[in-house]
Amino acid sequence: MAVQQQINKFIQGIGASPGIIIGKAYLIERSKVRLAQKRIHQHQVEEEVKRFFKAIQESRNQLTEIKEKILDPEVRRHSFILDVHLMILDDQMLIQDTVDSIRKKKVNAEWALDLTLEKLDMAFKAIDDEYLRERRSDLHYVSQRIFRNLLGKKHDDITRIKGKVIVVAHDLSPADTLQMNLKHVAGFITDIGGKVSHTAILSRSLGIPAVVGLEVATSLINGGDLLIIDGETGEVVINPTEEVSHSFLERKRRIRSMEREVLKYASLAAETRDGVRVRLQANIEMVEEISSVKIHGGEGIGLFRTEILYLNREDLPSEEEHFQTYRRLAEDISPASATIRTLDIGGDKFLPNYSKGNEMNPAMGLRAIRFSIKEADIFKVQLKGILRASAYGKLRILLPMISGIEEIRQTRAILEEVKKGLIKERIPFDRGIKIGAMIEIPSASDIADLLAREVDFFSIGTNDLIQYALAVDRINEHVSYLYEPLHPAVLRIIRWVVQSAHQAGIPVAICGEMAAEPAYAIVLLGLGLDEFSMNPVSIPKVKKVLRMSRFEETRSLVEELFLFSTASEIESRVRKWMAERFPDDFIQSRTEELTT
Ligand code: PEP
Ligand code: MG
Repeated sequence: MAVQQQINKFIQGIGASPGIIIGKAYLIERSKVRLAQKRIHQHQVEEEVKRFFKAIQESRNQLTEIKEKILDPEVRRHSFILDVHLMILDDQMLIQDTVDSIRKKKVNAEWALDLTLEKLDMAFKAIDDEYLRERRSDLHYVSQRIFRNLLGKKHDDITRIKGKVIVVAHDLSPADTLQMNLKHVAGFITDIGGKVSHTAILSRSLGIPAVVGLEVATSLINGGDLLIIDGETGEVVINPTEEVSHSFLERKRRIRSMEREVLKYASLAAETRDGVRVRLQANIEMVEEISSVKIHGGEGIGLFRTEILYLNREDLPSEEEHFQTYRRLAEDISPASATIRTLDIGGDKFLPNYSKGNEMNPAMGLRAIRFSIKEADIFKVQLKGILRASAYGKLRILLPMISGIEEIRQTRAILEEVKKGLIKERIPFDRGIKIGAMIEIPSASDIADLLAREVDFFSIGTNDLIQYALAVDRINEHVSYLYEPLHPAVLRIIRWVVQSAHQAGIPVAICGEMAAEPAYAIVLLGLGLDEFSMNPVSIPKVKKVLRMSRFEETRSLVEELFLFSTASEIESRVRKWMAERFPDDFIQSRTEELTT
């Protein structure tokens, strides 16, 4: 239905993937399918059950087809979400409960499925867990597909988008996003979703600007409207005047030139003005990203996430696959080093045949090192692959989600066994390979002094550390205002971890997102971190601020920060410090410009 044309209408959402873009709107009408609720006779029951199974099978075929058609490796990385959807289609509770309703209540399949969904929805609501809420939206995407198949309705053909458009939708399921020809998508905007919704994550990793959580986008925007979106500030303008377009484009030009300017720092050393040298490294998941690490001046890999090797498949990666991947990593990054983190499965990613995704509180469940120690045979395959590759370059092993000393000792015992096997087989490996612990659970940070005697290095994972220390789910938009990297508690934890590491003579790195924000990097420098690891693109801007600062000044700043008692006081002190020293690097949003 056409809506009244809006001129120069500003709407505000959540910036989900940075970039300013002007383009025509492509509206995806995803109105809820209307369900006919019918009672059926006994003799129709089995026919109805059959119809339901047919719709399930069709849904399965469609999702499998979408998955198979994804050729772009960057997009493919995200297709595990489709596996989650395929698993939902196999969910016995969903299927059995619906079939039971058809048989016992004598209702049509649509009605029966709706009743099952209502029940599951109630259960999800009662649990109030963000991880499960995500599963709930996945459940809804899948059910919409089943409903459409039951009704014989066509799915929006979004494979045929032409030109370069800004996709406007109430919500986009991962299947929607993954099947689009992304070459034609200049941006995404949605009514719902937060910074970590599927659309947001995918857009960020593809570098496509996106604004989510706009609430009214689909009701105000007509297909073909001209839009400006600012994926950083979350601003969207419908049919902007020339003057407004001009000011956005001007802002875009300034950001571009800043980015180009900052790239000059990529090849320079990460050294402060008073001669303190730190290591700026990169977080990556695929060996192919190493070229970007080099362009952006990364001095090695501080975090190589290995989950991707396990996802998107029915079987487990072989020792040879591990070996080949890590060997390429070691060789391509040489002479620098790479830190390989062992499997960090669980939480929001799970293995189809192992963790069933049915934990009530997966963030605190059988994940990461806990899973590896329990499934030692799987763990040994990975460790053997890493050790074999260590003969081809400099590798370190990093253990995720360490909560106590026993996990280190158990891992060392498993590692020793694998090493012995290799020695017996006369396979070369680095016998002095360094073992580090991720510090991301408060119990680990509390005993940092004891842990420091057991490992060769620490890597602080602030993404999780903040979530566990502040009891703030890292992917829940409702509590995101409480997710404060500069909370006094977080600063105290980091200070203690650094002190403990240095007292024991081991280096301490940070590999959480916090390191990628220049203002936070300054604080981390003052706190004494030795290594910073972040997404490759952020390296030059962090290098720039480190090179333009004096270590002694950042130390004094940090000392001052410990006098404050709230995160907002600390945050404003740090922002002021940064604004005084880097006035040109703070580009305000257009709205801020208008109001200041
Ligand atoms: C972290 O928790 O900070 C981290 C780097 O690990 P991940 O984001 O993979 O959990
Ligand atoms: Mg983590």
